[in-house]
Amino acid sequence: IAAGEVIQRPSSAVKELVENSIDAGASTVSVTVKDGGLKLIQVSDDGHGIRCEDLPILCERHTTSKLSAYEDLQTIKSMGFRGEALASMTYVGHVTVTTITEGQLHGYRVSYRDGVMENDPKPCAAVKGTQVMVENLFYNMVARRKTLQNSNDDYPKIVDFISRFAVHHINVNFSCRKHGANRADVHSGSTSSRLDAIRNVYGASVVRDLMEIQVSDENAVDEIFKMDGFISNANYVAKKTTMILFINDRLVDCTSLKRATEFVYSAILPQASKPFIYMSINLPPEHVDVNIHPTKKEVSLLNQERIIEKIKDAIEEKLMNCNNTRIFQTQA
Ligand code: ADP
Ligand code: MG
Repeated sequence: IAAGEVIQRPSSAVKELVENSIDAGASTVSVTVKDGGLKLIQVSDDGHGIRCEDLPILCERHTTSKLSAYEDLQTIKSMGFRGEALASMTYVGHVTVTTITEGQLHGYRVSYRDGVMENDPKPCAAVKGTQVMVENLFYNMVARRKTLQNSNDDYPKIVDFISRFAVHHINVNFSCRKHGANRADVHSGSTSSRLDAIRNVYGASVVRDLMEIQVSDENAVDEIFKMDGFISNANYVAKKTTMILFINDRLVDCTSLKRATEFVYSAILPQASKPFIYMSINLPPEHVDVNIHPTKKEVSLLNQERIIEKIKDAIEEKLMNCNNTRIFQTQA
C-alpha cells in the first residue's frame, strides 16, 4: 500500500495518530493543528509510551506491536495492526516522536524520514506518554499539497474526527485546537455517561432529542451481533445526517447502513429532517473485513444485509413509537 494512499489528507494522519494513542491506553489525547495540518499536526497522549529499544524500527513498514501471532490477524481488536501508518507518514512528512515509558527517568526524542531514524534517540525531559509531531505534510507531493491548499482546509474534518472519537471513547479526554489558539474547538472532558459526552461535543440541543437504542442477535446460531446507540427522535431537525459509527471500537463508514437508516427516517417522519445517529456495533472480529480499503475506513461485514435489516427494524419501531407519542401530545 503506497504511503500517499494510507495518508490521503491531514485528517487521515490525525485519525491514525489518535487511534494509536487510544491503542496505547491513553486517557488524555490532545491534538494541535497548524494550517489545516499541512504545516503541523501534533498529537500528545498519556498512554504507555514506546520503549527506547523499539524506536529504531518504529517507522519501518510493517512495524506493529499489535500482532504477536499469525492467528491474531483473525481476531485483531486494536485499531492499528498493519504497521503502515507511522511509516507512511515519514514518507510524506517529517515525523518527530517524543516518548517515555513507565518507570523511566527521562524520555527520548527522535526524528524520522522515509522510514528510518535521522539520528539516535536523544534523551529529553518528557511527561507520561507519547507525542508525535508531523511537519510539512506532503512537502514532496506538489500536486497533492496544491489541491489541499486550494480546497477548504482540513481542520473542520479533523474537528469532526475528534468529536466522533469523543462520543465513543467517553472516558478519554480529547481536545483539539489550532496552533496558538487559547480555546480548544473540541474539549470532551472525560465522563461516564454517553449522553454527557455527546452534550459536551455536539451540544445540549442534540441530546434533548435522542433516544437510546439496542439490538442484539445473540440467540442466532451462526451470528453474534450487538448494537448500542442513540438515535434522534421526531423532534430533531437537521439538514445533514450525522452518523457516528463504530464497529468493534473502530471508527468506520458503512454507506449501505447509512443509506438504510436515512431511508427509514424519510419514510416515517413527516418532515424532511436528517437524523443524528451514534451506533456501536460489536461482532466477532472475524466477521469484519477492514482490508477492503487502505485506510481501513469503509468496512464490509459478514451477513451485512441481515444486520442492516435488524437495525432498520429496530429504528423503525423506535420512530413509530415516538411519532405516536408526539401526535398524542399535540392532541392533548
Ligand atoms: P499499527 O498501529 O498498525 O501497529 P502504526 O504505524 O500506527 O502501526 O504504529 C506502529 C507502532 O508504533 C504501533 O504498533 C505501536 O507499537 C507504536 N506506537 C505508535 N504510536 C504510539 C503511541 N501514541 N503510543 C504508544 N505506542 C505507539
Ligand atoms: Mg496505528
